[in-house]
Amino acid sequence: MLSHHHTSQSDLALLRERLRHFIETEAIPRENPVLAHDVDRLDAVTRDLRQKARAAGLYAPQLPKELGGLGLNWQERAPLLEEAGRSFLGPGALNCAPPDQPNMINLLRNGTPAQQQRYLMPLIEGTVRSCFAMTEPAPGAGSDPGMLATRAVRQGGHWRINGHKWFISGAVGAAFAIVLAQTDEGATLFIVDADTPGYDVVRNIGSMDGYQIGGHGEIRLVDCEVGDDAVLGEVGKGFDYAQERLEPARLSHCMRFIGRASRAMEIAQHYAAHRTSFGQRLSDLQQIQAMVADSHIDLHASRLMSLHCAARMDAEQSVKHESAMTKIFVSEAVYRVADRAVQMMGALGISDDTPVSMILRELRPFRIYDGASELHRATIARRVFREELRP
Ligand SMILES: Cc1cc2nc3c(=O)[nH]c(=O)nc-3n(C[C@H](O)[C@H](O)[C@H](O)COP(=O)(O)OP(=O)(O)OC[C@H]3O[C@@H](n4cnc5c(N)ncnc54)[C@H](O)[C@@H]3O)c2cc1C
Repeated sequence: MLSHHHTSQSDLALLRERLRHFIETEAIPRENPVLAHDVDRLDAVTRDLRQKARAAGLYAPQLPKELGGLGLNWQERAPLLEEAGRSFLGPGALNCAPPDQPNMINLLRNGTPAQQQRYLMPLIEGTVRSCFAMTEPAPGAGSDPGMLATRAVRQGGHWRINGHKWFISGAVGAAFAIVLAQTDEGATLFIVDADTPGYDVVRNIGSMDGYQIGGHGEIRLVDCEVGDDAVLGEVGKGFDYAQERLEPARLSHCMRFIGRASRAMEIAQHYAAHRTSFGQRLSDLQQIQAMVADSHIDLHASRLMSLHCAARMDAEQSVKHESAMTKIFVSEAVYRVADRAVQMMGALGISDDTPVSMILRELRPFRIYDGASELHRATIARRVFREELRP
């Protein structure tokens, strides 16, 4: 792994202030509900914002300085991902949005120099997009990756891939996909160029969320042939690599969504402070006050849990248990916050006149992807009982 440089507290505070200003003055004014499901227009706005973010010295907080990033460790990154996450367009603008962000992790750690040159560098530059294709419709892999049905068979120096993937974020317009497929030697990651014959993004799946760069694609792989140089890392280690990307991906999601939910609550607080009902301001009503207080408690706890995970990641300690707890708690807490924000604002809260309803809709799926809450609860409990039953 490339090293991170230490950034002083005052530098970090200044950076955070500059980022907040960038998000307020560049990203938020470009938000528009018509972008939410329009892949092309969202790409165009994101490209434009990336240039501005680079010029402002705010690009890629997660990447090492050697690769054009800000070289921040996890704890330093947390407040910046939160600030970027306040806007639907912020993480894309800084090129710290999934699926490209975790794909960069896989390519950095496991890519050959040739793969890094061909696939990682353009991702870092932000000139192309990518996707990560693991999930399959029933009876294939969903929560249980062991049900992986996509197969890659080695024939005469080539791999022939057949399979069906769906809910693949970023697939529409991606230059390449990292595809998880079963082989005789175990699950393996393949880098598949989008123009490879037999690779087909058949549709963009409509969904309640929005502002997903490249939408959520359904992909068919039919006798799709790639060479040995398409294997990412070692044959048979696909599940390990998928796991390696998941912990950082989850934690980054938590940080970004804390920003998104905070913004929803601020908008709701503003509404409550100025709206009256039966001669009283909403902010004078105890039931409204309780919603505000509970939301600040949820956000505070979410920040602390994320920061604790961040500190462990910086110290290269395992976060298996902690990141599962954090993912469950934060995904449920930020949703509660956004739900209260909607309730506090009445009809305006569900409209497209403010970002609050889209924030709610974006937060809902976070309890499903990166491991559904039920799955993480099951693994946490399994770990606890393993200790309990240790002879
Ligand atoms: C917005 C969004 C973006 C996504 N992006 C990607 C992507 O880029 N790439 C990709 O590969 N996938 C992606 N996914 C897919 C995601 O990873 C899967 O939805 C997730 O793994 C769950 O699989 P499933 O949808 O097949 O649900 P299923 O496995 O069918 O599970 C359905 C529900 O059953 C319950 N459940 C399942 N198993 C258990 C269990 N063992 N114990 C208790 N309860 C259980 C859970 O409540 C779960 O929500 C995305 C999904 C969404 C919603």
